Amino acid sequence: MPHYVRLVYASRATFASAREGSGVEREIARILMQSRRNNPRDNLVGALYYADGYFFQCLEGEVAAVDTVYARIASDPRHQDVQVLMRQAISAPAFTGWAMKYGSIAGEVKALMARFGRREFNPYSFDEPVIAGMLDLLRSTPDVPVAVAEPAPVAPGASDARGRLSLALSVASLAVAVAALLVALLR
Ligand code: FAD
Repeated sequence: MPHYVRLVYASRATFASAREGSGVEREIARILMQSRRNNPRDNLVGALYYADGYFFQCLEGEVAAVDTVYARIASDPRHQDVQVLMRQAISAPAFTGWAMKYGSIAGEVKALMARFGRREFNPYSFDEPVIAGMLDLLRSTPDVPVAVAEPAPVAPGASDARGRLSLALSVASLAVAVAALLVALLR
């Protein structure tokens, strides 16, 4: 029988927040895409929450798989001060079906913090009841789909060709203007 474990950690982002519109931040979207690509391969599930520069993540799976991904995550330069908040044996994962669920639950988290008498979201200070509350929120919230819109790749030489075309059009317009002027003068 497999031995499952749930590992919850907190960390601090090393990148500056750069929210464009109401979507998921680009750096977070990249992390989610990596997680959603890798975790099904490793039979891992879990959830991630990010706010005020802090990460709160829950990883669930077989012991060896969780330890391997956690070692990889802990050495990722996109965050620092990675600290395990909870590690417990579980009979079955709770986030089954979510390679890495992402909660857009700022309002709910604020209410949870208030319920536990906390003024801010600071996962390093979380005790077991707050962690359990966060996990309940993440479990019950809808998942957020992500896609990173990278700038469209430019084919080699395409910008040169574009430059040459625009120069040719400028020269042609100038020639038409000069011809029109000459015709007007000769009349
Ligand atoms: P690739 O995706 O091919 O990346 C190659 C290398 O480049 C890696 O070492 C990676 O750390 C680094 N890298 C990639 N993009 C960036 C970037 N934008 N800035 C700096 N370095 C970069 N991975 C999982 O598999 N599952 C998870 O659940 C998971 N959760 C994460 C949660 C957080 C908060 C963070 C910060 C990272 C998380 N990661 C997760 C990513 C993890 O740390 C590794 O980057 C990833 O697993 C490497 O995947 P890969 O071997 O496919 O390498």
